[in-house]
Amino acid sequence: MSIPKAKCPKCGAEYTGWALSNPRHRKCRKCGADLVITDEQTAKKVVDDYPP
Ligand SMILES: [Zn+2]
Repeated sequence: MSIPKAKCPKCGAEYTGWALSNPRHRKCRKCGADLVITDEQTAKKVVDDYPP
């Protein structure tokens, strides 16, 4: 399993790290927008781990 990657749709900042698998850490540190997981496989895993 690869390290989760996410990107801010608002300012374009990119983040990488296991913390991204936790929704509480999926916020942009620059502008506070919700980050979008850019790796589809990881995104699915994240959804499976943390259902809405
Ligand atoms: Zn941002």
